[in-house]
Amino acid sequence: MPSQLETLVKILKLERQQGYKNSAVIGGLGAYGENWRESAHKQARKPEHHLLVDELVALLQEYDQTENKDERHSRITYMMDRITGRVGAPEELLSLLEQYLLLYPPEDNAPPPRRERPAREESPRDRRRPIRRERGGDDEDEDDDDVISPVDEHDPRTAREDSVDAWISEAPRHRSEPDIPPMPRLARPPREPRKRMSTDEAADVIRGLNADVATVKGVGPRMARSLNKLDIYTINDLLFFLPRRYDDYTQLTYISKLQPEKTVTVIGTVANTELRAASTGKKYFYLELDDGSGVLSVSFFGQPFLAKQIRKGHQLVLSGKTSVYRNRLQMTNPEWTPVDAESLHTPGIVPIYPLTEGLGAKGMRKLMERAVTYWAERLPDYVPEATLERAELASLGWAIRNLHFPEGMDHLGHAQQRFIFDQLLLLQMSILASRRDWQAVPGQILTVTDDFLEPFLLAVFPYELTRAQRRAIEDIRRDIATERPMNRLLQGDVGSGKTAVAITAMAMAFANGKQAALMAPTSILAEQHYRGVQRAFENMPGERKPVIGLLTSALTAGEREGIYNGLADGSIDIIIGTHALIQGSVTYHDLALAVIDEQHRFGVEQRGALRGKGTNPHILVMTATPIPRTLALTLYADLDLSVMDEMPPGRTPVDTRIVYNTERERIYSFVESELKKGRQAFFIHPLVEASETIEAASATEAYDLLLRIYHRYKVGLLHGRMKPAEKDEIMAAFGRHEFDILVTTSVAEVGVDIPNASVIVIEGANRFGLAQLHQFRGRVGRGKHASYCLLIPDTNTPEAMDRLQAMESTTDGFKLAELDWEMRGAGDLVGTRQSGTNTLQLMERLTPHLVELAQREARTIYEEDPYLQRDEHRLLAERVNMLYRRETDLS
Ligand code: ADP
Ligand code: MG
Repeated sequence: MPSQLETLVKILKLERQQGYKNSAVIGGLGAYGENWRESAHKQARKPEHHLLVDELVALLQEYDQTENKDERHSRITYMMDRITGRVGAPEELLSLLEQYLLLYPPEDNAPPPRRERPAREESPRDRRRPIRRERGGDDEDEDDDDVISPVDEHDPRTAREDSVDAWISEAPRHRSEPDIPPMPRLARPPREPRKRMSTDEAADVIRGLNADVATVKGVGPRMARSLNKLDIYTINDLLFFLPRRYDDYTQLTYISKLQPEKTVTVIGTVANTELRAASTGKKYFYLELDDGSGVLSVSFFGQPFLAKQIRKGHQLVLSGKTSVYRNRLQMTNPEWTPVDAESLHTPGIVPIYPLTEGLGAKGMRKLMERAVTYWAERLPDYVPEATLERAELASLGWAIRNLHFPEGMDHLGHAQQRFIFDQLLLLQMSILASRRDWQAVPGQILTVTDDFLEPFLLAVFPYELTRAQRRAIEDIRRDIATERPMNRLLQGDVGSGKTAVAITAMAMAFANGKQAALMAPTSILAEQHYRGVQRAFENMPGERKPVIGLLTSALTAGEREGIYNGLADGSIDIIIGTHALIQGSVTYHDLALAVIDEQHRFGVEQRGALRGKGTNPHILVMTATPIPRTLALTLYADLDLSVMDEMPPGRTPVDTRIVYNTERERIYSFVESELKKGRQAFFIHPLVEASETIEAASATEAYDLLLRIYHRYKVGLLHGRMKPAEKDEIMAAFGRHEFDILVTTSVAEVGVDIPNASVIVIEGANRFGLAQLHQFRGRVGRGKHASYCLLIPDTNTPEAMDRLQAMESTTDGFKLAELDWEMRGAGDLVGTRQSGTNTLQLMERLTPHLVELAQREARTIYEEDPYLQRDEHRLLAERVNMLYRRETDLS
């Protein structure tokens, strides 16, 4: 890692390259020097290094004071020479060395300073040798690849061997003997001593986090409004409003040293800007960034408006991934920020926050700094000491400080671990607490005998159940036979036959003379279920068959009224429907069991509402999103888990292939050959950005193209900007084969059954998570036809190819989910549980290890003290309440 000296060298070079206008850092070099001094001293380990720091600061001041370009030129040259050691320290400064020795005594085995700092006349080599020998330095195995040689035009080896330059060259992390670690590293996450205060006082302080953000010093009504726009309402929101990234000014890379496919930060001056036209005719913004070492081509697609914001001569910090295009290194859509004085004044790691109108980067950082300094100091740690000890986590105040203003990347990592752990722990504690609460209200005991069950299964299903289906049914049967209400999650891949399990569960309620409900996320799914369930119960043995109703928003007022009455008086036994089932106006006669299909489409609130509808009904939630077991146990700590890891026999797996952009003709004609056989096809359009508008626009564009290609066929379009009723209608029409092709965005994910669809083409496949790709793939292969999934990537990076090859090689959703977690982090997976108003942050850094830790600790604490009444748990209880009080039912 580069040192402070290196950062300074970069600035000096930039200054030189900009023609000595004192503009390399805003505020000028003099002011920069003042700020730089402290951090540079921190890194210095030898007296002469301290000496150099002071000397350079003085030189920077002088630089500030003169206007003369020649004078400035020679100052910079001199500073460079001093830094690289081509010129020794001036005589008059050497006398100061004695004083420094008192302040900063050398390490025991260091040579006496006089020998180390010889007179000026000696040649650099003479001076260097004793020092290298004393330090036992062996530079043969050093690797200077990622060291930015401060003065490229000189022989780097000559410069590097010098003692002062060695300070710079300490940079590589793998160096065996770092003399001056430029970035502090941590042996273990620091634990600060706890504040001495009573539990009551501490609880008061924690509650203080709930105060309106407007009460923070320096936040006026206008700023408060801006903060509100960022969803920051309380002090707690502010403290845990994390930077969206960090600019590591100690890790700046020279443009001339960039390598392809690396994520880097560069700083430079805009040398050229242009609005260019892409081959599609769309305008994009192009610029060239010059940092003195080289020029980087940068393209911003889809952001032509940047031409108004970024002008020639502006200084920018760009962070992004490099790539090669036509043999040139370039960057596409990097993150950018204007260089501001403050960032350069605090060389190190600078937090970059999401901003909003009326709140600039500088104001935000200032505010954060104040809030963080104040609260990190005062906030009592609510996680029990024993837990921190076992989990090897940093203390709270330290973590908060380093989440915002990390002292080093190592620090940031530890701070993030603590932060993620806390989120998981608190979420789990709250889930466990609400489970405890609702389980306290008894549900109804439902029992069925084998004499009922076996004939039922035999008569109703035209196939033999899989072992997995049988296991799930037994789990449910056991659960509902007790008065503790069931809360079970049934996880089973698309097509594993969850519906049969749901039907059997509802039959068990019916056999006990009770009502049952099945809730689906869309009308079309509800209707599909309605038909299936009706068909199944027609074959039910015995006298009385259940009366089955359908309740969706598509009903007329009269129809709806009829259903409402039937539910209230008990004449309807089984009801299938959408959200309409849990509307306030719906009352049930005796609802004892409810099934929620594709549960990730529902929020926890809906589950709570359903629970309020009967006498605490048994609940079965079903999902086709495979979640790795460890993660499921945390996110669904309140649910018992049944996994259906077996497919009904006789399925031919969907033939999955990666195909390339260049093979489009072949792709189109392959799809056409399927259409000719009477089959149907999906074209999934990629998520371009997290914006439904943009997504819809690009799907529309693709739709226009496919209309032309398949002009002999009927092509439909479905995207997220459409109204729910409209979406349902299009999906239903596709189901009736009114279209041959459906062009759609990720909204097509939910489990609609279109057995005639045999091919799905996924554009920009690399942009989706494996779990989601697997969901898409599940749209086909539901009938008797051989089916195909074609993945078209728009990149060929090794990571992307690895993931897509995993899709080719397995159809096991759980395996893919585990892989996805390993490769991309848990972001997508966690997104499948909507935890109400509290969305978890930093989930891309969630590891199985952390999940297990949090789970273990949550359960340990819960076992010992389920009501969190012990003194050492009271603050934790306070914190759980604070974050989750608003959600009355999290389970
Ligand atoms: P999902 O789990 O995705 O909801 P479904 O319940 O819709 O799956 O079942 C998919 C298809 O598999 C349906 O057509 C269903 O009739 C059939 N099926 C379910 N269980 C079996 C089984 N044990 N043997 C054969 N086919 C089955
Ligand atoms: Mg289903």
